Amino acid sequence: MTESNEKILSLKHMQKSFGDHKVLRDISFDVNKGEIVTIIGPSGGGKSTTLRCINLLEEPTGGEIDFHGENILAPGYDRNKFRAKVGMVFQQFDLFENKNVLQNCMIGQELVLKRSKEEAKKIAMTNLKKVGMEPFINAKPNQLSGGQQQRVAIARAISMNPEVLLFDEPTSALDPEMVGEVLDVMQKLATTGLTMVIVTHEMGFAKQISDNVLFINDGVITEQGKPEELFDHPKNEKTQKFLSNFR
Ligand code: ADP
Ligand code: MG
Repeated sequence: MTESNEKILSLKHMQKSFGDHKVLRDISFDVNKGEIVTIIGPSGGGKSTTLRCINLLEEPTGGEIDFHGENILAPGYDRNKFRAKVGMVFQQFDLFENKNVLQNCMIGQELVLKRSKEEAKKIAMTNLKKVGMEPFINAKPNQLSGGQQQRVAIARAISMNPEVLLFDEPTSALDPEMVGEVLDVMQKLATTGLTMVIVTHEMGFAKQISDNVLFINDGVITEQGKPEELFDHPKNEKTQKFLSNFR
């Protein structure tokens, strides 16, 4: 949670339509180096689509996404290089089922970053240790609990040394007793200066960890601000109504 003024990402009036359906109507926000930005809001409001546009899993249909001041949507921009710098952790973990924990954390490093096996292994082990999954390096994903799988997914993501790590409801698929272990890992990551954009329904966690909170509803940012302002003194009626569900 070390804020700086070095802007890493800047979304400018981003839009996304699927056919006639305007899912994102006008999304603008900045992410500075080391910042934790959380996105909250009702289901179907466009939170996942926002993240999927940032890492180009979806192609925005309007607006701009600047990465270090350069528009990644511009023709000729090196998208592969950009993709390698943005990590993502999904709700459903999305580990490779036929590979063990260690291999899951090595394969991207070898294929995308062209690291040697030895180097990839060393980095994977360091990160598996960080998330407490070192004792399970030979296990296959289906032998692990949801919380353990998600911690492996986080170790895999940080092994790619992303400049920004995106999380799409990382604890929503977990049994309640496993939510804490994943949030603890994310909390620890936040203190390392990693830049994170997190979609979550864990309001207590969001309030505690965020530098900036965005409330996205119906494809627009209805309200944004510091967590203590947005959670304790929401100004917009829709934000108030949404937050009242969590009290
Ligand atoms: P959230 O993550 O806030 O719940 P989403 O970004 O997943 O919301 O979805 C926002 C809207 O976009 C929903 O109405 C959803 O049905 C629609 N949508 C998302 N992805 C697609 C797609 N690939 N094709 C058509 N509609 C989509
Ligand atoms: Mg979603």
